Amino acid sequence: MSDDGCVFCKIVRGEMEAKVVRDEDGVLAFHDIDGRAPVHVLVIPKEHVSSLAEIGRLPDGVAKRLFEVAQEVAEEEGVAESGYAFRINNGPDAGQEVFHLHAHVMGGERVRMP
Ligand code: 5GP
Repeated sequence: MSDDGCVFCKIVRGEMEAKVVRDEDGVLAFHDIDGRAPVHVLVIPKEHVSSLAEIGRLPDGVAKRLFEVAQEVAEEEGVAESGYAFRINNGPDAGQEVFHLHAHVMGGERVRMP
């Protein structure tokens, strides 16, 4: 399912531009519009689920692919060896701003928890 007003669904549907680094069945990865590390990529399920609370709604295998694609993107972006953060902000207290589940892949410098 897709959510009409969701910016990440618009990127999935090709209605909004993004610097896409991975486009495969069920999963999309693209550079964050406001990168806060030398490498800052978002990995999302194409299906709209708002947060981890709804992860069970994803088609089989997609949740696992989010983790695998994060590692693959980190390798392709050259930060896998030096290390990177894989971070999901879940809900308002974590600072989640876009309510379409997404994982931040951040690296290229020392990444600290805020
Ligand atoms: P959150 O705080 O929800 O975990 O992170 C949302 C992220 O999405 C932010 O880092 C923000 O910069 C990014 N973002 C918001 N709107 C857009 C957009 O239209 N395009 C891209 N590429 N990133 C976006």
